[in-house]
Amino acid sequence: MAPYSIAIIGVGKIARDQHLPVIARNPRFRLAGVVSHSGARAQGVPSFHTAAEAYAALPDLDAVVICTPPSVRHALAREALDAGKHVMLEKPPAPTMAEMHDLAAYAAERGRVVFATWHSQYNAAVDEAKRRLAGAKLRRLAIEWKEDVRRWHPGQEWIWDAGNFGVFDPGVNALSILSKIAPGAIFIKSAELLYPANRDTPIAASLVFSSPAAENSDARLTAEFDWRQEGEQSWNIDIETSAGERLRLTHGGSKLFVEGALACEAPMVEYEGLYEHFAALLDAGRSAMDAAPFQLVADAFLVGARRTSEPFFW
Ligand code: NAP
Repeated sequence: MAPYSIAIIGVGKIARDQHLPVIARNPRFRLAGVVSHSGARAQGVPSFHTAAEAYAALPDLDAVVICTPPSVRHALAREALDAGKHVMLEKPPAPTMAEMHDLAAYAAERGRVVFATWHSQYNAAVDEAKRRLAGAKLRRLAIEWKEDVRRWHPGQEWIWDAGNFGVFDPGVNALSILSKIAPGAIFIKSAELLYPANRDTPIAASLVFSSPAAENSDARLTAEFDWRQEGEQSWNIDIETSAGERLRLTHGGSKLFVEGALACEAPMVEYEGLYEHFAALLDAGRSAMDAAPFQLVADAFLVGARRTSEPFFW
């Protein structure tokens, strides 16, 4: 079977760290070009300033992967679908739920595949946690997603623009794990969002969840997201079930401990998993637009109380 011809739109950190090397290693895909406003290049393929130029020059292009900030994705995705291309979306898929749903409908009308990716879901330890939690009731769930924004998003001004989510940019990774492993629906009950006085997106957030899978009304289901963490970084999810079993996912979901003992650890191959899944979706002509993680973010903004912290400067 001939490889799918694919182009990357937006050649920033994640395109270089993951998409370019993973595409290069996957025989199901062939990189045909990149689209970069700033003129960034990738070895051995043409670089175009606009997507329209790429579509004109590469008539056999099958698909694009959109690696820009979320606020500009919807227009780029529609343009790609209009050009007859399949679309893979970095997370979060769009700035609003309505735009995400629009892309699903628009792709279906055109018989194209659209794939909203949630890379953190592609971990063996996450799958094992899901398996162990099936049918369980939750007594306690505590997400702790605390990292240093200066270290992980150096100079990325866009993360502070409304429509790009602030601390929910990494936080949605935790929520994508939660929505995958939870043994029942998860809702946002309340939220506090902390905005630096000079910025339009939150630097920290505290969430309280409710769920029909909670043991009872005393069950405590929470998340703490914080971008001000210096030193050791924390990407952990602690869970206690009503049967007393204690699970701990660490390292962004790549390690699972049960009762303190390592139960599952596998090499981090999240993006390899994403591209395998995308190839399978393309083979089957099927889209995948899992809205659950994004719905939790949207609801946190809907119900969240706004607090203000000191200004943030890089
Ligand atoms: P980034 O380094 O800032 O790259 C984004 C690229 O998008 C820019 O280099 C630019 O590329 C293009 N772009 C188009 N319109 C833009 C605009 N209005 N403002 C800024 N850039 C614009 O960001 P990133 O870290 O790669 O993140 C991109 C997306 O990937 C985010 O949604 C993020 O959540 C997701 N992601 C990032 C990571 C990570 O570790 N960084 C991990 C997983 C997912 P050109 O100049 O080539 O057009």
